[in-house]
Amino acid sequence: MRVAVVGAGIGGLCTAIGLQRAGAEVVVLERAPELKSVGSGLSVFPNGIAALDALGLGQQFRDITAADAARLDAGQRRPDGSWLARLPHDAVSGLRVVHRAELHEMLVAGLQPATLHLGTTVSAISIDGKTVESLSANGAGTAEAFDVVVAADGINSAIRRSWPGDPGLRYSGYSSWRGVTSRPVDLLGAAGETWGRGLRFGMAPLRDGRVYWFAVATMPADEKVNDEYARVRELFGGWHAPIPALLDATDPAVVFRLPINDLANPLSTFRRGRCVLLGDAAHAMTPDLGQGANQAMEDAATLTALLQPFAAQTAPTADGVETALATYDQLRRARTQPIARRARTLGALAHVPSRTGVAFRNALMRLTPASALGKQAKAVQTWAPPSAGMNPTVTSSPR
Ligand SMILES: Cc1cc2nc3c(=O)[nH]c(=O)nc-3n(C[C@H](O)[C@H](O)[C@H](O)COP(=O)(O)OP(=O)(O)OC[C@H]3O[C@@H](n4cnc5c(N)ncnc54)[C@H](O)[C@@H]3O)c2cc1C
Repeated sequence: MRVAVVGAGIGGLCTAIGLQRAGAEVVVLERAPELKSVGSGLSVFPNGIAALDALGLGQQFRDITAADAARLDAGQRRPDGSWLARLPHDAVSGLRVVHRAELHEMLVAGLQPATLHLGTTVSAISIDGKTVESLSANGAGTAEAFDVVVAADGINSAIRRSWPGDPGLRYSGYSSWRGVTSRPVDLLGAAGETWGRGLRFGMAPLRDGRVYWFAVATMPADEKVNDEYARVRELFGGWHAPIPALLDATDPAVVFRLPINDLANPLSTFRRGRCVLLGDAAHAMTPDLGQGANQAMEDAATLTALLQPFAAQTAPTADGVETALATYDQLRRARTQPIARRARTLGALAHVPSRTGVAFRNALMRLTPASALGKQAKAVQTWAPPSAGMNPTVTSSPR
């Protein structure tokens, strides 16, 4: 089976590795002319790790991360450091935080040689989903047919935009700065988030003692800020320890801001003919549950399992492949869209604008039993891939 994967992000690379290991002939078409070692941290939960295990990448992932979050208290605090809500330990004990650049390097190294075509921008996919038109860096145009096309071209997916019924993106009302400290910082026994009014700060440990942090503020998406790092200091520099120490230990040059968007509405399908959307292209969600990349990993493991019976065939039957893609569409919409909705609701709660709203939210959080919070977290984190080539009529999506 010949497969084109559009986009060498986490979703595209996981899919390419999975299908290649199952025996498919895979090319990855990536617009960027080179792969840069950039980015900050990424939280990977037990569901993402289960997907990596299914793809045969779990051990390598464990080797580049540590289960450090397990020894820390986690939940939400107030800017003075007092706890609003504490998660039970078993709701975070499976979390591993990875530097994005290290994960990316690990995934690229997992591809067979000559799989990755850098500087190749996909400009169109035919309506039957089989033919990929692309432009290489020297301006040469190509049209090539594949058995399956996986559109993993991210939140601004041009492929999704060309589909009927694309809902477009919605700005959440808040933007996020991210950074990684350049030296180890003591987290003083706790991690997670701190919630103020229209402001949020989060921290998580990397395996070498450095800390990944993010800061979120309600603001216009296009607000001009002269000095991003200075703005973060101004907003969060007076918050509880170790937030000021984290900012002190961060090189201002690595701090960048991103407006937080998600899909304005859920898509009615992730599939058109032989083309499927995967990762943010299919279900861009706000990062409030830290699930975007985890869901992309699940997508990759699901698609790999479903296409596995045909992957090594040179002429796979149309019926078999199309049933597998229809099952992918069904399973992945059922799994990802409620999670995207939940992430959006949590973000709205975190950024409730009024003082009264904040007082009400904080009271609600203090009164919610830790066991209920843990149950909610675990419902998202519990997932298993479908068995290879399963029949769509006998399954329902794991929630
Ligand atoms: C502030 C923030 C914090 C987050 N934290 C977490 C977290 O802790 N845990 C988590 O699971 N998720 C998190 N996420 C979400 C996560 O980053 C994304 O869900 C994930 O990276 C999406 O991966 P992807 O492969 O779908 O897309 P991308 O990583 O965006 O990859 C898409 C690729 O496609 C390429 N491309 C685009 N168009 C074309 C084209 N026409 N032709 C060829 N190539 C193309 C791009 O260059 C890119 O390489 C966070 C997101 C944000 C914004």
